[in-house]
Amino acid sequence: MTVTRFAPSPNGPLHLGHAYSAIVAHDLARAAGGRFLLRIEDIDGARSRSELAEDFRLDLAWLGLEWDEVPAQSTRLADYARAAEALRGEGLLYPCSCTRAEITEDAASIGPEGPVYSGRCRREGPVEGRPVAWRLDVAKALAVTGPLSWTDALAGEQAARPELLGDVVMVRKDEPASYHLAATLDDAADGVTLVTRGQDLFSASHVHRLLQALLGLPVPRWHHHPLLLDAEGRKLAKRRNSPSLADRRTRGEDGLLLAAQLRLHRLPAGISLGSA
Ligand code: GLU
Repeated sequence: MTVTRFAPSPNGPLHLGHAYSAIVAHDLARAAGGRFLLRIEDIDGARSRSELAEDFRLDLAWLGLEWDEVPAQSTRLADYARAAEALRGEGLLYPCSCTRAEITEDAASIGPEGPVYSGRCRREGPVEGRPVAWRLDVAKALAVTGPLSWTDALAGEQAARPELLGDVVMVRKDEPASYHLAATLDDAADGVTLVTRGQDLFSASHVHRLLQALLGLPVPRWHHHPLLLDAEGRKLAKRRNSPSLADRRTRGEDGLLLAAQLRLHRLPAGISLGSA
């Protein structure tokens, strides 16, 4: 059975880009007679605002979508800790005390998600007395798994290249998991067979595929859809573009009509769909 999901983070209101993403995931599940899941990704500490999750549900219902909600990430911390422990036990994680400024300064290169970590703490160890994050030793992990591949419904078969992102964080300084670890574990636990999300997260899938191999998780397929872009060609962002779905909903706009227009790629002025 096809199982897709929409996994918003409650750190700002949903906007048109989220509506499009949820509709794509919902419709792919429905077309296959499958299930569409909602998962609230609320482990972004101080930035997560739980009251927004209720707005998200109202927004999705307003768009005419139906879903099954699975437990929010904040209820799964023990699972994340267990998986991190397993990776640590294999010698695949190392502690890193580098600050954001140090990471940027030392960066070996700029990867798809920003500065690629230089590996300083892998070579030199963390600075004593500072808080640490735990990073995945990607070269070591790849030596364990060997070459991996994954399949995107639009882009086709991909050779997994997690090294593009460098030694990504698995356990944050302030949280028991990073997005990469939490989302990969959750998709497996939730039985997601088609990971549907925007193209901005395409490169994350290289890392997720590696984690699946390391943790013995089932391998889904992916569908990274094009993003809605603003007039300057930038992806719509929570903080920038107005109005939010909640704004539209509360001022009486027709959500079903908006959903129908998004399905037909009839977009408001100044907004376009990026190329696949
Ligand atoms: N929680 C992420 C976000 O809101 C999406 C993660 C995903 O779809 O894998 O950007």
